[in-house]
Amino acid sequence: MSITNKENRIFPWGNDRRFNAYSNYFRSIYGARVQKVSIDAGFSCPNRDGSKGTGGCTYCNNDAFNPSYCLPEKSVSRQIEEGVDFHKWRYSEAVSYLAYFQAFSNTYAPVATLRKLYEEALAYPGVIGLIIGTRPDCIDEEKLALIKEISEKYYVAVEYGIESCYNKTLARINRGHSFEDAVSAVEQTALLGINTGAHFIFGLPGERREEMLDQAEIISGLPLKTVKFHQLQIIKGTAMEKEFIDNPSDFELFGWEEYLEFFIKFLERLNPAIVVERFTGEAPPRFLTGEGWGKKRTDQIVNLIEKRLEVLDTWQGRLYEDNRQH
Ligand code: SF4
Repeated sequence: MSITNKENRIFPWGNDRRFNAYSNYFRSIYGARVQKVSIDAGFSCPNRDGSKGTGGCTYCNNDAFNPSYCLPEKSVSRQIEEGVDFHKWRYSEAVSYLAYFQAFSNTYAPVATLRKLYEEALAYPGVIGLIIGTRPDCIDEEKLALIKEISEKYYVAVEYGIESCYNKTLARINRGHSFEDAVSAVEQTALLGINTGAHFIFGLPGERREEMLDQAEIISGLPLKTVKFHQLQIIKGTAMEKEFIDNPSDFELFGWEEYLEFFIKFLERLNPAIVVERFTGEAPPRFLTGEGWGKKRTDQIVNLIEKRLEVLDTWQGRLYEDNRQH
C-alpha cells in the first residue's frame, strides 16, 4: 500500500480519490471516459413469468430505472444509436461505449438468442464491450462459455442483482434465490476470468443498520470486480409500496445525511480492490412514494461523501485489513 504521504497521497487503486472509483478504473484501462448505453432487449425475468415466481421482487418496477430511449420494440442497434445521441448531447467527451443490457434478466434466453443480441450490440461503431445485468439463478455453464468467448475480444462484465447477503431479507423481498445461489454464480463467473459485478440495496425491511454494515466483510470476501450500492427507495405500484403504506413502522428508510455517515463506515470496511460504481440510486421523483431525498442528486451525494472522507481523513478499506485480522 502506498498510503504514506498525507500531502500527496496515492491510494492502493492508483489515484488520489478516497475510494476505488469506476470512472477512474475505466480511464486507467482505456485512457478516456467510457459511457454506458442502456438497452431493453425484451428479456423477461423468471421471478415474474412463473418459472420462479409471479409477483417479482417486492421493490421492482423496471420502468423507474430504464432511460426513455430503451424500449424493447426497438432493435438493439436502434437503442444504442439513440443512447449514443442522448449521451453525446450530455457528455461530449465520451467516444467509446459499453452496451448495458439492463432491463430484467439479460441472460434469460437460449444461448443462440443471447449470442445474436450481444453480437448486434458489439457490431455498433464505438461499442467496446458489454455489461450484462442478470439474476444469480439465470446463468449456467453454456451461457458463461458464450460470455467468456466474447470477453476474450471485448470488455465484458456480468452484474448480478444480489441485493442482500441475508437469506431472511431475500425471502422477505421475494427474490426467489438464496445468498448461496449468488455466491455460486459470482464464483463461477469470476473463475472464468469474466469481470463480475453485484448490486446491493441498503435499507431493506427487517435488516438492522449493524447487519447492513456487517455485509462489508461478506462482500469483501467475494471475487467481485465492481459493485453498485443503492439506498432503498419505495417505488409506486410495487408490492413494497403496499407493504410500506400498510406498515410504515417496518421500514427505516435512510435520510440522505444518515446515509452519508452510514456509507462512509461501510466504505472503510470494504475491500479496497473492489471498484465502486455507485453509492446511491436515483429513481425519477414521479416514480417515488414519499419525498425521497428531495432535490439531492446522486452526484451531490458523491461529492459530499468524498468531502467527508477528506475531512475525516479516511478512505475505502481503511479498516479492511484490521477486520480481516479478527
Ligand atoms: S429479478 Fe430483477 S427484474 Fe426480476 S423481479 Fe427482481 S428486480 Fe425485477
